Amino acid sequence: MAKIIDGKAISAAIRQEISAEVEKIKQEKGVVPGLAVIIVGEDPASQVYVRNKKKDCDETGINSIVHALPENTTEEELLALVHKLNNDDSVHGIIVQLPLPKHLDSDLIINNIDVNKDVDAFHPYNVGKIMIGDYELLPCTPAGVMALLERSNIEVSGKNCVVIGRSNIVGKPQAMMLLHKNGTVTVCHSKTKNLDEICRSADILVVAIGRAKYVTGDMIKEGAVVIDVGMCRDENGKLCGDVDYESAEKKASYITPVPGGVGPMTRVMLLQNTLSAAKKKLK
Ligand code: NAP
Repeated sequence: MAKIIDGKAISAAIRQEISAEVEKIKQEKGVVPGLAVIIVGEDPASQVYVRNKKKDCDETGINSIVHALPENTTEEELLALVHKLNNDDSVHGIIVQLPLPKHLDSDLIINNIDVNKDVDAFHPYNVGKIMIGDYELLPCTPAGVMALLERSNIEVSGKNCVVIGRSNIVGKPQAMMLLHKNGTVTVCHSKTKNLDEICRSADILVVAIGRAKYVTGDMIKEGAVVIDVGMCRDENGKLCGDVDYESAEKKASYITPVPGGVGPMTRVMLLQNTLSAAKKKLK
């Protein structure tokens, strides 16, 4: 039976550390770290994410400003707001909630965020920094996975790490971060042949594909560490991961649950990035 990597508990501990640092910066420098969140339109899932981000900021003492723009906002209007926030000294982090309505070019908008305020780390400059291994801002989900491994004392160096999924926001940066920690990394995707066999070679398996319970116990090596990034719905509409937890936990040494694994870590890493951006500005 695998040990559960408790993302809720680990993220709560990190939140406390962040709160303490935010308070220290307030006391010593008179500066309150600030996060600006831009949301365009009425997408219900995006609204929930934005509300959660605001709540997380409030709880840790970070000042959050939500800019809710109507669906028919033009690219010029959105760019004007991004540039205004780039120049606002009270704003240390900027995020644009994705997806944007179809008439807006997300790449163009992201590319206009000040790289030092890009707390989602989606700007090509920060993506490039991840490649080099010289980074301050990391994309929140893979950074959260690394923090889970580190705080569970799971060594990456020398391990066979398999990442399933190659998205720009999870799979690819995840692979680079594991490589920087001296893992031997294999990245799999929808065209990968012999996926089962490759999975069974993994000491550390990170799954980020978006397919409910796709990875089953027979694809997991005895004693492997299994990190499930997926956020899916099962046949009953219940939240589940990409890993079939029931069969996987019988083989794994450590496993993340869904919910309560990677999800809360993604949230806390946004706070961490905002704090890092504020600290960098103070230097
Ligand atoms: P994405 O952009 O849709 O990418 C999915 C990746 O999985 C692609 O690279 C795709 O391969 C690969 N894939 C799909 N089916 C596959 C299969 N049968 N075998 C092997 N590879 C397969 O998704 P994403 O944004 O990375 O997100 C992945 C999952 O993580 C989703 O469930 C998402 O909701 C979840 N997520 C969770 C958090 C969190 O905080 N917990 C954060 C972000 C995302 P190709 O490239 O060949 O198409």
